Amino acid sequence: MKDSEILVQLVKLQKIDAAILGIEDSKKEFTTRINEVKAHIAANAAEFSGKKAKLDEARRKKAAIDVEIKSKEADIKSKEGQTGAVKTNDAFKALQNEVDSMKREIKKFEDQQIIFMEEEDAAHTWVKSQEKSMKENENVMLAGIKALEAEAAAKDSLIAGEMNKRAEAVKNTDKTWYDRYEKIRKNKGLALAPIIEGKNGSGVCGGCKFDVRPQAIIELKKGGEIKTCSNCARIWYVEVKEESAK
Ligand SMILES: [Zn+2]
Repeated sequence: MKDSEILVQLVKLQKIDAAILGIEDSKKEFTTRINEVKAHIAANAAEFSGKKAKLDEARRKKAAIDVEIKSKEADIKSKEGQTGAVKTNDAFKALQNEVDSMKREIKKFEDQQIIFMEEEDAAHTWVKSQEKSMKENENVMLAGIKALEAEAAAKDSLIAGEMNKRAEAVKNTDKTWYDRYEKIRKNKGLALAPIIEGKNGSGVCGGCKFDVRPQAIIELKKGGEIKTCSNCARIWYVEVKEESAK
């Protein structure tokens, strides 16, 4: 196979690879959006479970204080039961003081209780109102994810189609040059670079903008040996049609 024929094959191959890169790029957009929606759902769920935990916490605290109050009340009752057995005025006063101080503690507990009840109320109202709308929002978002996944899957099947074309093109490509092509492609994204022609036969490498000797361009146009850029290692080709059209 002549070098010029090999180059034609490589250009064909690169067209397919460029198409695959383009499809992969547009697929990325969908996967990014899918991840965004998933993150949104997770954030909502975290907010909800945070509030729910707060509600549980308020209920727990309230129940604990209930226990405290009940136990103080029992203490008071037992102290008051002892008043009959008290002999001296001082002892009676001491008992009375103890009861008073326990009553004050109960009052403190009751004040705390009001705060926890307000917390519980607020959390409960929020949880109740959000529970339904959150589920509805989530369903909408999940449907959105499904649609995005379908778009991504469509891109995958486009890629699969291009891969089939590629496998055919590889069969017709010189093995040695295909291996070189792959090596460059893995490093550079695309293995071939067009020569961008300037005035008076000059030009630059389309891959790295490095100057190309006019002689090299002439030889390439004549269909001579395949040439690679000494700067970026890409394989050069000349886009004849596009140049003359401009
Ligand atoms: Zn270059």
